[in-house]
Amino acid sequence: MVRVSEKKLIGEIIEMRGDKAFIQVYEETSMLGPGAPVYSTDEPLSVELAPGLLGGIFDGIQRPLNEIERKAGAFIERGVEVRSLNREKKWAFVPAKKPGTKVEEGDIIGTVQENILIEHKIMVPPKVSGTIKEIKSGEFTIDEIVCVLQNDDGQIKELSMMQKWPVRISRPITRKLLPDEPMVTGQRVIDTLFPVTKGGSACVPGPFGSGKTVVQHQMARWSDVQIVIYVGCGERGNEMTDVLNEFPELIDPHTGEPLMKRTVLIANTSNMPVAAREASIYTGVTIAEYFRDMGYSVAMMADSTSRWAEALREMSGRLEEMPGEEGYPAYLSSRLSEYYERAGKVVCLGTDKTDRVGTLTLIGAVSPPGGDLSETVTQSTLSIVKVFWRLEAQLAYRRHFPAISWLNSYSLYNDRVTSWMNKNISPGWGESLHKMRNILQEEAKLEEIVRLVGYDALSESEQLKLETAKSIREDYLQQNAFHEIDSYASLNKQNEMLSVVLYFGEEAQNALAKGVYVKDIILLEAREKIARLKYVSEKEIAKSADSLRDEIRTSLNKLIEEGALANA
Ligand code: ADP
Ligand code: MG
Repeated sequence: MVRVSEKKLIGEIIEMRGDKAFIQVYEETSMLGPGAPVYSTDEPLSVELAPGLLGGIFDGIQRPLNEIERKAGAFIERGVEVRSLNREKKWAFVPAKKPGTKVEEGDIIGTVQENILIEHKIMVPPKVSGTIKEIKSGEFTIDEIVCVLQNDDGQIKELSMMQKWPVRISRPITRKLLPDEPMVTGQRVIDTLFPVTKGGSACVPGPFGSGKTVVQHQMARWSDVQIVIYVGCGERGNEMTDVLNEFPELIDPHTGEPLMKRTVLIANTSNMPVAAREASIYTGVTIAEYFRDMGYSVAMMADSTSRWAEALREMSGRLEEMPGEEGYPAYLSSRLSEYYERAGKVVCLGTDKTDRVGTLTLIGAVSPPGGDLSETVTQSTLSIVKVFWRLEAQLAYRRHFPAISWLNSYSLYNDRVTSWMNKNISPGWGESLHKMRNILQEEAKLEEIVRLVGYDALSESEQLKLETAKSIREDYLQQNAFHEIDSYASLNKQNEMLSVVLYFGEEAQNALAKGVYVKDIILLEAREKIARLKYVSEKEIAKSADSLRDEIRTSLNKLIEEGALANA
């Protein structure tokens, strides 16, 4: 990392050729000229990791936005120098180890209750070990010494509560595990059909206005993870303003505390050059890894990775590199995979008696120009991530939200998550899921027939199948992010809702076999109630679902009896 010119603009050496260095400056470079000095910091581009991160709003190079504003006013000047984390604030450090204890990299030497939600674990930094000579207890700033280590050669190492880590290198771990537990997002189409795991990776490609940002916001709000990192990467300024205004007011549904207490926001300000988008992704993921290393479940959302790829393209162009597909550098897909490989369920560094397990889930929005999914960034991303939520313009146009295609999306975690759901939510889950997929697939086939020869060519049973499919789509998959109750559905609620929808479909088919007409079934009042199930609160849902099943049974039986009477 270097400082450029007397203005001390922040830059990074991105390439050396002979005695020439290529510097990417992360601020406006107008008025820079030949002869301007460059100051070396003798450090790679790094982030500061210590108490004080949570609730923070930073730019792409980890400068806290409110500090910048305090120093420079609302319109940010260039070269503003602010520390990433507060140096005056004191934190109560509670030691977790005694003098004389041998510690290794990753071991937790103490804790700081950063806020009511999160205990910040103070860890021995990677590549450091020794025997504790001295350890303190009490209130300290993040750069005061809290622990002194001595290694076997008698060398002394002083530790504060702060670590620094170069953003482009992933933080070391002991080993990776297979991600097997779903990250519950409360979004039915995702959790039911295309789940992502804690430690998994997913992407949301879709054209403009199809709901990428809303999906990412919903995940940041509702996901059952302990820490959320949200990176606004080069999307329009007003969207970022929404995030900055909204998030601090949101309440965490799981704890009742302000959501910001478990969140770090990274927002590129519009007067930073595109290159800063690159830095913001790396800054975000490094902070995310740091919390994972403490043994937390972490999720990071990046909106949008396409803007990052565009920044790479621009930088590559300036370096006069040989362009690859669509002008993107040939190393685009290796950069993307290096990034997504930082996701995972891992055994953290440290010599804890039982393995300390942390997870990092990475979710990236992709905004292909014109919604064309065959373009390079989308295709490169798809070959890496395990979950693909395909947003379709057609669905968004019909106001079917989330506009995630139920036929063209996929999750490679399906099998593992289904076993988990069978064990933890309902033994019948896998079977319901199977039925639901079948009905949706059959709908696509039947619709084809309808297009060719018309609705009347369908048998009554097929007509009923279409009705059930419609109910799955409208009553179950559609979900309004802005409705107080519908915004989030627990796995239990999802299970109750799905079982009622399928139950109606099956019982109706039975009734049909006993001579009831489709047109009478369609008119049943119970169907309205199924449609309103999504607005029933979590507390009431089990009761409502039960009584609705009763009503379905009774009203269909009534139709069967009436039919029998009419025929008699
Ligand atoms: P993108 O980021 O893909 O350009 P947005 O996420 O900004 O699109 O979504 C565009 C609009 O679509 C939103 O402003 C909202 O009106 C609507 N929308 C998207 N998802 C939902 C949802 N789950 N519930 C209700 N409305 C939605
Ligand atoms: Mg968007």
